[in-house]
Amino acid sequence: MIVSWLRKWRRKKILATPFPSDWLAHLKQNVVAYDHLTPREQAKLRDDLRVFIAEKNWEGCAGLELTDEMKVTIAGQACLMALGLEGDPFACVLSILVYPTGYAVPQEHWYEGWSIAEEAARLGESWYRGPVILSWADVRRDARHPGEGQNLVWHEFAHQLDMLDRSTNGTPPLADREQRRRWHDVMTSEYEQLVTDEREGRATLLDTYGATNEAEFFAVATECFFDCPILLRSQHPKLYELLGEYYRQDPAARWKPSA
Ligand SMILES: [Zn+2]
Repeated sequence: MIVSWLRKWRRKKILATPFPSDWLAHLKQNVVAYDHLTPREQAKLRDDLRVFIAEKNWEGCAGLELTDEMKVTIAGQACLMALGLEGDPFACVLSILVYPTGYAVPQEHWYEGWSIAEEAARLGESWYRGPVILSWADVRRDARHPGEGQNLVWHEFAHQLDMLDRSTNGTPPLADREQRRRWHDVMTSEYEQLVTDEREGRATLLDTYGATNEAEFFAVATECFFDCPILLRSQHPKLYELLGEYYRQDPAARWKPSA
């Protein structure tokens, strides 16, 4: 109760000051959907973003000095995907760690009974009740090249939504049994199609990394939903409809308001 009261008081204080003009410039440049939102949605996004930036622990890694552009870009994209969701879906993400570029993590690999120490390359990671880790070079590249279907922030934060029910299986908490049934039917069919397309070498709109497993499929589909919504709606209408129902957003309609 005290924590909740304190949080409310802190949030009120954060939102009492005007939104910084240079933050608005970063938001418009790196979250292109911002200009297509309704004034009400824009105001909510600005508020959510300020609370998100203030309440997370931000850490630059490998000598990276964090800038406002980095925080506004990451927070803006994360808050955009959560705009229609209830509550505070990223409350469990306490820290955002940012590397200048891709980074390497130690990894143990077993070969014929021998333990071999290796390094694995990473662009980002998402830990259960832990940090989200991102390569700024990739976040910036995705932000400046919208429409290519790739977005590291949406990918890693989709994993956080997936983990809200404590299992990383490509199914976030859903409203009811009926929605869970539709989710299972549509996601299974779309995932299996991507696995087949990848195996047979067919070109796909969805990144074939999504064929790794169901959790990666949800993350990749989320990237496409927000970054290539019109293409996703025309090529995968059932998947688009399902994600639209979950995120409570219709990003394709933003680009063609008269459609
Ligand atoms: Zn992933």
